[in-house]
Amino acid sequence: MASSPIIQLTFPEPDIARLTLDDPSKGANVLSTGVLAELSAHLDALSLRTDIAGLVIASGKPGSFVVGADIREFAASIDAPADQTIAMATHGRKLFQRLSQMPFVTVAAIDGLCLGGGAELAIWCDRRVMSADAKAQFGFPEVKLGLFPGWGGTARASRIVGLGNAVELVTTGDAIDGRAALSMGLVSDVNTAAALPEAAIRLIRAERKTDEYLRDRQRWSGPIAINGTELGFLGATASGYIQQQTKGRYPAPLAALEVMLGAAEMDIEAACQAEAEAFAQLFGSPVNRALIHVFFLSDRNKKDTGVAKRDVAARPIKSVSVVGAGIMGQGIAAANLKRRVTTVLSDAAPDALAKGVSSVLEEVAYNKATKSADAAKALQLATLLHATAADAEIATSDLVIEAIVENPTIKAQLYARLEPQMRPDAILASNTSTIPITKLAAGLKWPEQFCGIHFFNPVRKMPIVEIIRGEKTSDETIATAVAYAKSIGKSTVVVNDGPGFLVNRLLFPYMNEAVQLLIEGGDMQAIDRAAKEFGMPMGPIALYDMVGLDTSFYAGRVMWEAFPDRVLASNVLPVLMKAGRLGQKSGAGFFAYDPKDKSGRGKPDPAVDQLLSHILAPKKKFSKEELTNRLILPMLLEATRVLQEKVVRSVRDVDLGLIYAIGFPPFQGGLLYWGDTLGAKTILEMLKPLESLGPRFQPTPLLLEMAANNKKFYDMD
Ligand code: NAD
Repeated sequence: MASSPIIQLTFPEPDIARLTLDDPSKGANVLSTGVLAELSAHLDALSLRTDIAGLVIASGKPGSFVVGADIREFAASIDAPADQTIAMATHGRKLFQRLSQMPFVTVAAIDGLCLGGGAELAIWCDRRVMSADAKAQFGFPEVKLGLFPGWGGTARASRIVGLGNAVELVTTGDAIDGRAALSMGLVSDVNTAAALPEAAIRLIRAERKTDEYLRDRQRWSGPIAINGTELGFLGATASGYIQQQTKGRYPAPLAALEVMLGAAEMDIEAACQAEAEAFAQLFGSPVNRALIHVFFLSDRNKKDTGVAKRDVAARPIKSVSVVGAGIMGQGIAAANLKRRVTTVLSDAAPDALAKGVSSVLEEVAYNKATKSADAAKALQLATLLHATAADAEIATSDLVIEAIVENPTIKAQLYARLEPQMRPDAILASNTSTIPITKLAAGLKWPEQFCGIHFFNPVRKMPIVEIIRGEKTSDETIATAVAYAKSIGKSTVVVNDGPGFLVNRLLFPYMNEAVQLLIEGGDMQAIDRAAKEFGMPMGPIALYDMVGLDTSFYAGRVMWEAFPDRVLASNVLPVLMKAGRLGQKSGAGFFAYDPKDKSGRGKPDPAVDQLLSHILAPKKKFSKEELTNRLILPMLLEATRVLQEKVVRSVRDVDLGLIYAIGFPPFQGGLLYWGDTLGAKTILEMLKPLESLGPRFQPTPLLLEMAANNKKFYDMD
């Protein structure tokens, strides 16, 4: 095994063994069956030796320990029967458990991410030391895949850090840094990454002197010292919190809690067995499958360059100019500064520019840990921000992002002024949410270096950016825009130009249908409730209020002009807008908002019924199923059109785009994944009773073809 390709055995000191994990084919170590087999062989050999005082397990990748089990292997065995899953879990656990039974001290030296299976590997060691670097994080994120640790992680963690801490780690899936790990007794020492190897060896020597690790081995193999009252209290508080967070849609955290509480009074063997059995119940469940699918969507997206050709190089973007210092310009400038990108901010209105600069600095200086502004950080980042009104300065950047008022004529005037001053290799992009990119490119000298980079509001929270390809946009421009957006921490979805691009085009049918339901006598709260029960983060009526009724109206007009047969124009929004009800920002929209109510939730307002009395039919009760189908199916049908028109390159882009941009529920796996779980024939059945409502509910050619040939959306990729 000495020539092992992934795990290397070395001896930093004659009686200290070190196993270094370093998979040369990957950027981060994952625990595949091959790696586990290597580990097993090393432990076999080492366990026979009598000259070893201790073993250090470490990673050869600086800043990254082990990021988890091999999810591709997991996915490949997702159909395995429960007994096989239990056997797989038990096999992995028994291997790691040997680390707590070796004839010497075992220590994990954790630098960088230590997650999932990697965290289980570390926790089965006698001791852990961890890097103080912020990138060093220990966590069990399995609940995010609809699972919980299955290699003994729940049982072992409960015994080492106490049941309360372990429950929090496992059920939230949140990772902790070295300091937090030290305070809960998870690690024995926190040190600089460079000092970790020495710290691990020092710890081994100290343990050999006191034999404390042997007493802990004994202690951690038995039940947990916790009485019935404490157990009951922990169960009640944790399950209340979990139910509130998951709303019953993500079963893993509650299942983890149950197994951890149930196994508290068992010895470690029985606790691990209970864990494996409960793990097998979740493995392969619909939610687990959907969340693994979303994991792969996101993984694929990270590698997507935005263009099909392999030899297209993205140009480096070292400086960015943002024109327009309003809501969006501020967010975009802040996103750049946070990643230390030199940023020029500009606005035609001096007041707006001054306000923009102070908002940007306020945002970048915010320190999450102290929940306050960090003045030193603000000063440091302020040197990268240049506020100016001079076109010549704006034009010096590698990338100019326009985020001014949504008016094609004013945008065109700006481009006509700026473009001649820009470097020939620089890129110009618009943040427009509705104006076709090809139309905006019409007067440009270099339309191939122009594209849409559509950030969503609020920029700091929204993880995705739409990159829009105009008719003449070059591959190089798209690849550069994608690489740039990723470099400032955003995922990207590349779409071809078209009304509403991808996200707003699919969101609109859902929003529009909510207004139609209102007109037919539907109840606002029932409509929102149906959407939320489907899993949407908020109902469409509340969403109108959040986006702003005026903004929604203008975006809606674009859709109505493009697709008049599917968009029923109504007076609902104009009437409310005329009454000054623009949504949350004006204190009232469909709902009324009390500034003292910090929840931000609106309350029904009888004034709305009065204002709309001449438009709305008498109140009518719709079933929950009817409401859900009315809201979600138009979105699905629009997605089939988007696919046929080749607005997107892949069904996966639709699904990830909607999950990230509108919060389409991950446990449904994405809009088209959800469509596939139903099947085209079932969707046609669901549409039948709705077809009389008009063309927006008529089956599309793609759907009919899929039903006839028994095809799925995901067969198209
Ligand atoms: P905003 O009104 O908050 O800000 C626009 C800023 O542009 C103002 O400060 C204005 O003074 C400035 N401006 C106007 N004309 C200018 C010019 N010729 N030169 C320089 N500055 C000029 O608008 P916003 O909400 O930030 O939207 C900006 C762009 O982003 C629009 O194209 C909009 O469609 C798009 N967008 C908005 C949102 C959103 O939710 N607000 C989301 C995505 C995209």
